[in-house]
Amino acid sequence: MKTIGLLGGMSWESTQTYYQALNEGIKAELGGFHSARIAMFSVDFAEIEALQHQGLWQETGDILTRAAQGVEAAGADFLMIGTNTMHKVAEQVEAGIGIPLLHIADATAARLKQNGLSKVGLLGTRFTMEQMFYRGRLEQQGIEVLVPSAERQTLVHDIIYQELCQGQVLNESRARYLDVMEALVEQGAQGVILGCTEIGMLVKAEHTDIPLYDTTAIHAEAAVKLALS
Ligand code: GLU
Repeated sequence: MKTIGLLGGMSWESTQTYYQALNEGIKAELGGFHSARIAMFSVDFAEIEALQHQGLWQETGDILTRAAQGVEAAGADFLMIGTNTMHKVAEQVEAGIGIPLLHIADATAARLKQNGLSKVGLLGTRFTMEQMFYRGRLEQQGIEVLVPSAERQTLVHDIIYQELCQGQVLNESRARYLDVMEALVEQGAQGVILGCTEIGMLVKAEHTDIPLYDTTAIHAEAAVKLALS
């Protein structure tokens, strides 16, 4: 089994989900006492969040590159960055390490294509919804991406930072997310990408008929497959 390198802490609320999904995935494949081999560096999200909102992405990339080098030195065979947003600096991180990166958008695009989807809605932080580092990567792989209006993007973004990344899961926020998702479906989305690793804490398949693509689960499943390949 390969050792999975994981950059966590962004936020740690979703890293718990990753940790559980990676171990459950390995156990489902190998059974018995098997669990995932993981080398993890969990950052202090306060530093990252402050730099993000000041637009200091290069500095966030420096922090993640050092963390990734630590994970590589600890024996990781490949790297996962456990957040969609921080894939904004994925190329910078990749350039600083000698192991491959399992990109969250590539894992998601592969799943969408496997399920025959070509037009999807995307929810995530404003950075992820607005900028091209993530959407562009999906579009290059033949997936058309719809994002909410500017006003709704603010709502989605604020709930991520003010609630989900701080461990708060509120019913009224779920209802708002479901409204935003339904509007995307009305515009033609065949499913919705939960393109922020905490959204799966709030909206689950049991809450809606809309096909959901939870990037944390998809990323973890791809990692399990790679670890066992
Ligand atoms: N975990 C979130 C994501 O997947 C947001 C937190 C962050 O900015 O990294 O985008």
